[in-house]
Amino acid sequence: MPRPILATVHTGALRHNLERARRSALEARVWAVVKANAYGHGIERVYEGLRGADGFALLDLAEAERVRALGWRGPVLLLEGVFDARDLELCSRLDLWHTVHCDEQIDMLAAHKTLKPQRVFLKMNSGMNRLGFTPERFGSAWTRLNALTQVDEISLMTHFSDADGARGIAHQLATFERATRDLPGERSIANSAATLRHAEQTRGDWVRPGILLYGSAPDFPEHDAAHWQLQPTMTLSTQIISVQTLKAGDTIGYGSRFTAQGPLTIGIAAVGYADGYPRHCDSGTPVLVNGVRTHMVGRVSMDMITVDLTNVPDAKFGSEVTLWGKSAKTGAVLPIDEVAKAAGTIGYELMCAVAQRVPFADPAPTEGR
Ligand SMILES: *Cc1c(COP(=O)(O)O)cnc(C)c1O
Repeated sequence: MPRPILATVHTGALRHNLERARRSALEARVWAVVKANAYGHGIERVYEGLRGADGFALLDLAEAERVRALGWRGPVLLLEGVFDARDLELCSRLDLWHTVHCDEQIDMLAAHKTLKPQRVFLKMNSGMNRLGFTPERFGSAWTRLNALTQVDEISLMTHFSDADGARGIAHQLATFERATRDLPGERSIANSAATLRHAEQTRGDWVRPGILLYGSAPDFPEHDAAHWQLQPTMTLSTQIISVQTLKAGDTIGYGSRFTAQGPLTIGIAAVGYADGYPRHCDSGTPVLVNGVRTHMVGRVSMDMITVDLTNVPDAKFGSEVTLWGKSAKTGAVLPIDEVAKAAGTIGYELMCAVAQRVPFADPAPTEGR
């Protein structure tokens, strides 16, 4: 038997979360953001749940090819645009829409020989200071693009740095609106946090939710996934492979990080940092055993963690352990955001970091179609 660790993707939850995005987006169309292999879930595994989207947004050309190979004929958007002039040939062949965020990309387009003009999303740097033309240069970039026979429709986009937090979006939104006032074209500005928190001002023609589709709250801990009515789309589970009974003064694991204050029963679960479970999780990180909430004690090892079994007296060799997601046994949910917080990070990173050696379950037939 293989090691009991397993990741499971929940098609029904993906569908539910996409509907949740649609409720906020109203008449706007929805890009399902599936970059980073669908936030670690696997593009092929999320496709069934997300095919109700209006398009797929990603940034790796090989991932765009995979979306086409699944039979998707609708829009596909490259969020960082092309990296090399040859990429434009693939854009033509696969009918990919692409972001244009710098002069070099306009140069490549101007030199590109194509029969069919390409749809582009012109990106403004409205304050994030990563990609995009500054508001001052945006109009001239638009004019230059608009003059190219290689270019079809031009849409306008920007990206928020603080849609999830206190600073908010007002400063960037005002900048974007001022600099695009006289330009035609569809708008795309909202990520998950803006879609949920600032829907009124930001939905535009296309919203670009990523993390919310995967059931993680973009503004945790201010709000949790339940607050936004999101369901977990990934469960990471394993089993207890040993039980130890400790007495007062006994220590656990490397560095003797944890000392039992009295008699204590602990379970050893087959998951470690080599599976992508964050080593920064320390004693107190929540874990479900048989669907009952308990917590880690001691350090995360490469292949094992240790959990307090005090309130799970029936736990034994083979008992179900849920690291995040949903217990198959009771349906109890452990939000990935809580585990991420215990590790000093965000849900995004945990989903993306599930290690290659972790097998994914085949989708359950009841959930599949
Ligand atoms: C990743 C990304 C998104 C989605 O962000 P979430 O916070 O996951 O919703 C939207 N737009 C762009 C340009 C992105 O790179």
